Amino acid sequence: MTPKSASINRRALLAGVAALGSVAATGSGKGSSLSEKTKSQIQANIRDNVWDVVVVGAGVFGAWTATHLQRLGKKVLLVDAGGPANVRASSGGETRMTRSAYGADAIYSQMATESLAEWKALSSRAALPLFHPTGVLMFFQTMVDYAEQSIEVHKKLELPLDMLDTKALTAKFPQLDFAGVEFGLYEAEFGVLMARRSVLHLVEEYVRAGGTYVRGQATTPEPDSDSHSLKIDGESVQTDAVIYACGPCLPKLFPDLLGPRFLVTRQAVAFVAPPAGNDGFGPDALPGWADFNGGDLYYGFADIEGRGFKIAHDQHGPAFDPDMGGRRIADGEYDRLRRYMERRFPELTGQPFVGERVCQYTNSSNGDFLIDKHPDFERVYLLGGGSGHGFKHGPEVGRMAAAMVANATSAPDQRFSLTSKETTHARAVI
Ligand SMILES: Cc1cc2nc3c(=O)[nH]c(=O)nc-3n(C[C@H](O)[C@H](O)[C@H](O)COP(=O)(O)OP(=O)(O)OC[C@H]3O[C@@H](n4cnc5c(N)ncnc54)[C@H](O)[C@@H]3O)c2cc1C
Repeated sequence: MTPKSASINRRALLAGVAALGSVAATGSGKGSSLSEKTKSQIQANIRDNVWDVVVVGAGVFGAWTATHLQRLGKKVLLVDAGGPANVRASSGGETRMTRSAYGADAIYSQMATESLAEWKALSSRAALPLFHPTGVLMFFQTMVDYAEQSIEVHKKLELPLDMLDTKALTAKFPQLDFAGVEFGLYEAEFGVLMARRSVLHLVEEYVRAGGTYVRGQATTPEPDSDSHSLKIDGESVQTDAVIYACGPCLPKLFPDLLGPRFLVTRQAVAFVAPPAGNDGFGPDALPGWADFNGGDLYYGFADIEGRGFKIAHDQHGPAFDPDMGGRRIADGEYDRLRRYMERRFPELTGQPFVGERVCQYTNSSNGDFLIDKHPDFERVYLLGGGSGHGFKHGPEVGRMAAAMVANATSAPDQRFSLTSKETTHARAVI
């Protein structure tokens, strides 16, 4: 197979080779093979077409938006500078939790539930699992508003949520030491999403269904030019509309508008090898878990697919540059994670850390997403502010964003509007 006749498949997406300068991935219909094209063919394809929508950013938000626009019959160009769910993207991690408990924020409980159906369907179409139904447990030292409101919302929406006392918790999850814990809220239907794999699979499906994806750096529209044109790796592209789903790069792309409103912070996660022969840390035994810990959350997952028990301290770290920020964990951070882990998971005492990842949260002022029109351009839209909890909502966020662009409307809910984004940061959505 010569390079020029090689087909673009998941291997190509995985390798991140689909660069505008070399390869674009385009499908011509269901079941069609995806063909590699020469540089000039690709440039001509990008340049000579008039697109209905260009989606900039193939993270979870952009990939689902492109998919929903495609379902609406739109001619879409999806572009990403580093490839779908690349190593610096917020969607580039191995795993993400999905849950519906959100305190009083019923909007997110609903979105997570709607999204779960799409995730399960996507997973059922994939060769490898994209969703592991491990269940999710959040546990509390005392009754707090967040837990009380989660219970109320679940009752109102008729969503399942089990309340377990300490005795029941200990019987069900003996790997955990529940000292000081009063109760837990357990969601049996939810679990763990294979983040990067899901986005790759989604983009592959989109391409197979006829969508066009290219790897390339997109510009913002020129301030005094027609908002319907932008450049990708220097090549002009004509489109009716463009949506920027650029995750942590949004404040860099729109510094005046989003610089003060979004705070990009560092977030570290680590992986630990469970003891050999101990089945208590596999996905059949251990749910996704979060220790509310008086608002100073720790969370993690089972040893999914043998990649290690995951643990993280869910705090907003220091401001982080997604392009240049270092991606190593400091010794002090390991020490803190180990102290917590050995207290709650005593059987992991002394077990080695076997992996680490440093990623970034793109925080809006209170944790609500941004899904809205750009105020200065007729057909330019902004999508982001995942704020450390966006992944699970990808399908619903994409559906809302696609409807907004297709119908030329603005924010689907006031909470997702630009005007609701303050410049002082006070996390409210957990
Ligand atoms: C450590 C960590 C743990 C998390 N845990 C969870 C969890 O358990 N559950 C959950 O629901 N959420 C979680 N999140 C949040 C979730 O991962 C993010 O909200 C989500 O991935 C954001 O997706 P996105 O598409 O907005 O951004 P990204 O995934 O960052 O995608 C943006 C893309 O835009 C591209 N791009 C940027 N600028 C340009 C340009 N000019 N031209 C072309 N392309 C461009 C980038 O290359 C990138 O691929 C976590 C986040 C982190 C960091």
